[in-house]
Amino acid sequence: MQRVLAKELIHYIDKQVHVRGWLNNLRTFGKLTFLLLRDRTGLSQIIIEDIETKKKISHLQPGSILSIHGQVVASHSSHLKVEIINPIITVENTILEIPPIEYYKPEIHSDLEFVLDHRPIALRNRELQAVFKIQAEIAHAYRLYMHDTVQAAEYFAPNILGASSEGGAEFFNVDYFGYPATLAQSSQLYKQIMVGVNERVFALMPFFRAEPSQTSRHLSEGKQFEFEMGFFNHWHEILDIQEGCIKFILSYLHEHAKIEIEILGNKIIQAPSNVPFPRLTFKEAQELYYERTGVDERHEPDLSPAAERELCSWALEKYGTELVFVIDWQTAKRPFYAYPSDEDPHLTNTFDLLCGGTEITSGGQRRHTHASMLEGLKMKGMDSSSFTDYLSIFKYGMPPHGGFGMGLERLTMTLLKLKNIREASLFPSDTKRIAGNRIKANIFFGAENIRNEIIRLCHKHNLPIEHLTHEATPTSPDSARVRNVKIEEGIKALILRGKSSKKNYQFNIPAHLKLDTKVASDLIGEKCEFEDPAVILERFGLQVGGVPPFGNLLNLDNYFDESIKTQSRAAFNCGLPTESIIMSSKDLIAIADPKWGRFSK
Ligand code: ATP
Ligand code: MN
Repeated sequence: MQRVLAKELIHYIDKQVHVRGWLNNLRTFGKLTFLLLRDRTGLSQIIIEDIETKKKISHLQPGSILSIHGQVVASHSSHLKVEIINPIITVENTILEIPPIEYYKPEIHSDLEFVLDHRPIALRNRELQAVFKIQAEIAHAYRLYMHDTVQAAEYFAPNILGASSEGGAEFFNVDYFGYPATLAQSSQLYKQIMVGVNERVFALMPFFRAEPSQTSRHLSEGKQFEFEMGFFNHWHEILDIQEGCIKFILSYLHEHAKIEIEILGNKIIQAPSNVPFPRLTFKEAQELYYERTGVDERHEPDLSPAAERELCSWALEKYGTELVFVIDWQTAKRPFYAYPSDEDPHLTNTFDLLCGGTEITSGGQRRHTHASMLEGLKMKGMDSSSFTDYLSIFKYGMPPHGGFGMGLERLTMTLLKLKNIREASLFPSDTKRIAGNRIKANIFFGAENIRNEIIRLCHKHNLPIEHLTHEATPTSPDSARVRNVKIEEGIKALILRGKSSKKNYQFNIPAHLKLDTKVASDLIGEKCEFEDPAVILERFGLQVGGVPPFGNLLNLDNYFDESIKTQSRAAFNCGLPTESIIMSSKDLIAIADPKWGRFSK
C-alpha cells in the first residue's frame, strides 16, 4: 500500500490508508489514546482503543519511527478534520530517550539560547519547520523571478578570496596553503564582472562577516541574494526590479506557503501589491524622522535603527505598506564604486530598502569608467593595485550598471516579523557560536568564573598563592598599598582592540609603567587601541579594574612584557576589582603561558 501524507488524508475519508512518520506525542483520555504522527506535510491524529496496541507504544518517546495502517474518518472535534481509527502499528525505530527540548509542542517556550543549544532536534518543531520551509520558498521565488521575469542568468562566484574585495575591516582571514586569504563578504566585484558577460545576473551566495558585536540582526555567516544589471535608462530601474522582486516573493508565499504562514500566526509583513514602496531621499528621511519624533539626527551620516523603524511605521500609516526605499546616500557612507550623483557630488545614486523597521538591501548604480573607478578608490584612500582584475573590466568597456545585495536571513526575519536574525538561520554563527554550536574553546566568562579557574589552576599545579579581598583600588599605588607589595610587582592587564580586525589582544605590563601602543601595534601587525570598557564587560564579563593577566582564559593572545621577569613576585586582580592574588612570577608565567615582547615605557 502506498504511503499517504498527513495533508492528503482529507481525500481518503472512509478508506484504508498507510501512513508513516515520527511519533510526535501520545495523550490518553479515559479509554482512548491519541497519537500524533508527524510527516513532512504536518500532523495526523491516530485514535487507539485496543489495549494490546496501547501497550506496544505506551513506552515510546517522541521521534520513534512508526508505520501505521488504519481507517480514515471525518472528525468534528479535531482541527485536523480527519483522524485514523483501528490502527495496526509497526514500530520501525524505537526511541526510549526523552528529547532534551519539547519540540513536539506547538510552540517551544524555551529561550533562544536553549533552542540553539538543541538546534538539530528543535528544528523539528512545527513553528521552526515553518520558518525554514518559508525560507526555502523565498529562495525559490527569488530564482523564479530573476530567471523568468528579469531574464537574468545565475552565476556562481568564489568564496575564498585572495585580497579583500572592498577593503573594510570585517573580513575573516583564512590560511590558504600558508598564504593569507579571506572569506567573501559579498560577490560584488564578480557580479560586476558578470555584467560584462551576461548583462543581467543574479546569485544566492554565502557571505562571511566578522561582525564583532552581538546584535539581533547580524550574523557572521549568511546568504545573500545578489543582483546586477547593465544598460538601464535610469538607475531607478534597479529599484523597480527590487520592488517587483519583493512583491513577487510575497505573492508566491501567500500562494505556496499558506499553511506555514498560518502556523506562524499570520504575522507576515504588509505590502499590498498595488501600493508602490515610498522612495525618500536620505535627507527627506532624516527630516521626516525629526518631524515625527523630535530626535535630531540630521547631521548624522547614517540612519539609526530607531529611525529605520520610524520610517517603516510612517510608510505603514500613510500607505499601508511596511517597506520604504531610502535613496541618494552620502558619499562618505557608501563604497568606492558607488556612482556619484550628477546633481550633488556629496551624494551617490544608491539606495537601501527598509522592511518592517530594518535594512534588508543596499544597492545602487556603480561607477562604470576606468577613470571614475580610480577616482573612487583614491577618494577612499584605497590601493588600486589590489583590484587589478576588477579594474580591467572598466578598461575594456562597461555599460551603465547597478544592482543590489539582500540578506536572506534579514529578509526572512523581517517578512515573518521574527525578533532575532538567529531564528532565521538554521545554524547561526556569531561571536559566541560557530554553525549553531557554542564555541568550545576553553573560554571563561564572568569575574567569578575566571577567579575560580585561576585558583583551580594554581591548586592543580601546587603553586602557592596569597588570595586577598580588599577595597577596589583606582590607582596602582593604591593597589600596591592594599596588597602590601611594591608597585612594580603589580601587573596591569590591558585589553586592546585591533583597529582593522576588531580582534582583542591582551597586554600585561608592570603596574608602574605605561603601554607603548606603537610597539604593541607592531607586534600584532595592526594598529590597536584600548577596548571600550562596556565591550569588555559584555564580552568577558569583566570590569576593567578586575582583568587578570590571564588572556589565555579569555581566548586572547596574551602578551607579557619582558620586565615582568625581573620581579620575583607578581600581584594582580584575579577577575574582581576587589580581589587580588600574589604569587611567584615564575609560577604565574608557567600557567598564563604568555607570548613575550617589550612594549612598556
Ligand atoms: P548593516 O548596516 O545592517 O550592518 P550593511 O549595510 O553593512 O548592513 P551591506 O553591505 O549593505 O550591509 O549588505 C547588504 C545586505 O546584506 C544588508 O542589507 C543585509 O540584508 C545583509 N547583511 C549584511 N551584513 C549582514 C550580517 N552581518 N548579518 C546578516 N545580514 C547581513
Ligand atoms: Mn547596507
